[in-house]
Amino acid sequence: MTLHIPFDNSFARLPGDFFSVQAPTPVSNPELIAFNAPLAETLGLSPTDRDELARVFAGNLLPDGAEPLAQLYAGHQFGHFNPQLGDGRAVLLGETIGTDGVRRDIQLKGAGPTPYSRNGDGRAWLGPVLREYIVSEAMHALGIPTTRALAAVSTGDPVYRERALPGAVLTRVAQSHLRVGTFQIFAARGQTENLRQLTEYAIGRHYPDCDGPLGLLRAVRDAQARLVAQWMSIGFIHGVMNTDNCAISGETIDYGPCAFVDSYHPQTVYSSIDQFGRYAFGQQPEIVVWNMAQLATALIQQLDDPEAAVEEATEIVHAMPDLIRSHWLTMYRAKIGLTSERPEDADLIGDLLRLMATDKADFTNTFRGLADGTARDWLLDRDAFDAWSLRWQARLDGEPDPQSRMRAANPAFIPRNHRIEEAIAAALEADFAPFDRLNAVLARPYDDQPAHHALAAPPTEDQVVRATFCGT
Ligand code: AMP
Ligand code: MG
Repeated sequence: MTLHIPFDNSFARLPGDFFSVQAPTPVSNPELIAFNAPLAETLGLSPTDRDELARVFAGNLLPDGAEPLAQLYAGHQFGHFNPQLGDGRAVLLGETIGTDGVRRDIQLKGAGPTPYSRNGDGRAWLGPVLREYIVSEAMHALGIPTTRALAAVSTGDPVYRERALPGAVLTRVAQSHLRVGTFQIFAARGQTENLRQLTEYAIGRHYPDCDGPLGLLRAVRDAQARLVAQWMSIGFIHGVMNTDNCAISGETIDYGPCAFVDSYHPQTVYSSIDQFGRYAFGQQPEIVVWNMAQLATALIQQLDDPEAAVEEATEIVHAMPDLIRSHWLTMYRAKIGLTSERPEDADLIGDLLRLMATDKADFTNTFRGLADGTARDWLLDRDAFDAWSLRWQARLDGEPDPQSRMRAANPAFIPRNHRIEEAIAAALEADFAPFDRLNAVLARPYDDQPAHHALAAPPTEDQVVRATFCGT
């Protein structure tokens, strides 16, 4: 059998200084760990056997029509501008236009060195590959825009980190891999013509109705405002919101040290490299605004008179906090069962979050518990909760079907850090059952699934994961 991928590549038609032509480097012994058949169908892939899937998604067998390349970009990493990054361990095979009419990139992550690898080996080990597979697919099932996982393959080759670990390749699917950093690199280099072409390309691909660089800025701002509010509404911490990890499409991208909050506190940080809490849970709305300011700075460089555009660009960025706040309120109203809007709702929500923060209550279970009457169990100060609950009950009076509204907004299952670690540990012993089970349950996060109750439980003291690490 031969796997047919109906490639329709557009990025490869852009000027040569947007990327480097780069084939994936073959691996010793590719074996398929996971394959996302429904996504494959949407992409228009023909069915084939596991062996061929493993070879294609390890990078050993290049399918017809693939034009592999590594993309160039720059980026602010923890606030410091790095003038050149680029795909150091990823290779874009090409794009397809899916059965839903959407153009998507198919990219191999961990596919070997590229001209942008710097000191890296271009590889990934099994842990981060499984983590990204689990979390990105969970995010999708939660209804949050995200890159997807099409396949995970083990390579049979060791990858050397603190110790030798099994290598793996993740096939990532995205509406595109254009980032804020893709614009920044041409702006920083003064390559205005490239910047113009990139802007035109991004508009055509993502926001065909918007007008010019400032129109694009507005569209990306809107998409990112909604995205960050969605993260805040389910307790997701991205962990490394550098401008090279901020997608123009408005999808969540680059699952490195990301994590879901267990016990709630706005200052929660899991990432081992985030020493100062720049990307702490509660910081995320501010940081995404900062990222949009960097996009604005880059985009206006292509205008004949950038100075004249500063005022409008500033206004666009300055409107973002209110936009985020408004999405946030809509989402949190739903989380406490409200459909109507009243001015006092923000206080009601804020007061609950303050109680939860003081008690380090489990974020997911407290909100889910609002619908079934168990929220109180997750708090320590029951009197304080009861007082809040009285106000809340009064507010719910006359609201249409708050129960259903809450159950649709508050998942029962999230990819809990200790369960991800457990799945990775088992996979290292060649047992993929916990990984498969986690994926199956997380595909229906808003359903009760009593048989999998254990996966909804917070970690016990000795299960708590205190730090997460980048894939590097
Ligand atoms: P990330 O933290 O995944 O956003 O990566 C930041 C930059 O480091 C990107 O340019 C990556 O391509 C590069 N990078 C990360 N890991 C590796 C690796 N193992 N080999 C080469 N480059 C890497
Ligand atoms: Mg990245």
